[in-house]
Amino acid sequence: MPSQKDGIMVILSSPSGAGKTTLVSLLSEQDNFKISISHTTRRPRPGELKNKDYYFVNLDEFKRLINNEEFLEYAKVFNNYYGTTRTPVIDYLNKGKNVLFDIDWQGADQIKNKRLDYKLVTFFILPPSKKILFDRLSNRDMKDKLIVDERMQQFERDVLHWINYDYVVINDDLNTCYSRIKSLIDAEINNGSKDYDPDYIRKHIEKLTS
Ligand code: ADP
Ligand code: 5GP
Repeated sequence: MPSQKDGIMVILSSPSGAGKTTLVSLLSEQDNFKISISHTTRRPRPGELKNKDYYFVNLDEFKRLINNEEFLEYAKVFNNYYGTTRTPVIDYLNKGKNVLFDIDWQGADQIKNKRLDYKLVTFFILPPSKKILFDRLSNRDMKDKLIVDERMQQFERDVLHWINYDYVVINDDLNTCYSRIKSLIDAEINNGSKDYDPDYIRKHIEKLTS
């Protein structure tokens, strides 16, 4: 049984561009919430900061961390490796901090399957429509049309993983989406009632995948 004193783990996953990094950053502004900073072999995007957005490492260093069994989970995503080191996460949780993870479905599955002794809540974030997803990706990765095309293609496959998450949330208006996630996390922590409509989500998924 998870202890009441320990922090909880909150995973946000989504098809690329749906807004999970933005939402994780907003959620981390609350007292007692910390972001798990991942390691990656991908190059930094303009504006991304070393050791804040990611620990940017080369493939040799990533492999060293795998061999040393330092990862709680890791996965290959879009031809690069991404992973979460175990020690900082467990330290935060043991100090009563809630830890936010911005990781893909492979990492979420791995953490779920570990059945750690900490409460885990998982969210899958969806865009309002494919058109809006395309616009967001195009804005963010302005110079790289190839990246946008690749991520739009991947959307069709990624979206299918919604079924394995506790909650699916649509990121239309950012503040509304943030408030929805925050109140679901609060309800999970306090065993309160949850304002969640699975039928509405199913209909939205049918729309996105038709
Ligand atoms: P992800 O981490 O899921 O790949 P990001 O958080 O990087 O997505 O968001 C993709 C882009 O969309 C960013 O430029 C971000 O500022 C923008 N964005 C995120 N949420 C919203 C929203 N609700 N409305 C408009 N733009 C958004
Ligand atoms: P991006 O390159 O856009 O920052 O991230 C690409 C994908 O990798 C996103 O789905 C993001 O959630 C995922 N990701 C980021 N860090 C990790 C991690 O540590 N582990 C896993 N499994 N996925 C990650």
